[in-house]
Order: sequence, then structure tokens, then C-alpha cells
Amino acid sequence: PPDREVLGRATWTFLHTMAAYYPEKPNEREQTMMKSLLSSFSQFYPCGHCAEHLRDEMKKEPPKVASRMELAWWMCGMHNKVNTMLGKDEFDCNKLDERWRDGPSD
Ligand code: FAD
Repeated sequence: PPDREVLGRATWTFLHTMAAYYPEKPNEREQTMMKSLLSSFSQFYPCGHCAEHLRDEMKKEPPKVASRMELAWWMCGMHNKVNTMLGKDEFDCNKLDERWRDGPSD
């Protein structure tokens, strides 16, 4: 099976970067496509119990796809739930753009 840590780091990089570059004002079609992508993702993520946990969390808190900021913060919240579950520190979601889009300002 895939290495859960290596797969996780690569996948979070993809998910947060995708959210950081999602449109500020997505149209209806883009919003539908993002919902569909995340729903499909949670079916096929190749760590079975991770995917199951993600589907449970997505039922409680469905993806927010109305804007770039909403999607980025939603993703940050999902990742923080996993961080907490694994005993890792929470990430400060105010630093999302610095980490995943713009880089450090200085
Ligand atoms: P990662 O958690 O992979 O984070 C990578 C980088 O993202 C960090 O260095 C930090 O710069 C940044 N970051 C951290 N938190 C946030 C945040 N909230 N928002 C934005 N950026 C952030 N592992 C398990 O053992 N059990 C599971 O059930 C499980 N479920 C997972 C579910 C999903 C959907 C994914 C993608 C991964 C899951 N993993 C799970 C893997 C786990 O989340 C980590 O990826 C793995 O443990 C490696 O952790 P890491 O400390 O290297 O950093």
C-alpha cells in the first residue's frame, strides 16, 4: 500500500494549492465541478480509513465552494481536524496564502 505520510503530504500540497488558486468568484459550473471533484476524491483516496473519515467530516461540514477564501478556509479546517486527530499542532489558517500561494512577504 502507499506510504500514508508521503501520500498525505503530497495530497495536502495538491489540495491546498488548488484551493489557493480557485477563482475568487467561481461561476455555477465551477462550483459544481469543485463539489464533484471533492466528492469523487473522498471515494478514491487510496487510504481507506482516511477516505472514510473524510467522507464523515464532509457530511457534517460540506465543502464551501462559493469563493476562493471559503474553499481555502474549509480545506484548512478539514486538515486541522486530521492534525488534531493525529496529535499534530493546528495550522493558523490566516497563513494560508503565505504558505500555499504567495510565499513569505519578506
Ligand atoms: P501534513 O499534515 O501532511 O501537512 C503538510 C504541510 O501542510 C505542513 O507542513 C504545513 O505546512 C501545511 N499544513 C498543515 N496543516 C495545515 C492546514 N490545516 N491548512 C493548510 N496547510 C496546513 N494520516 C493518518 O495517519 N490517518 C488519517 O486518518 C489520515 N487522514 C488523511 C486524510 C486526508 C484527506 C489526507 C490528505 C491525509 C490524511 N492523513 C492521515 C495523512 C496526514 O494528514 C499527514 O499528511 C501525514 O501524517 C504527514 O504529516 P506531516 O506532519 O508531514 O504534514
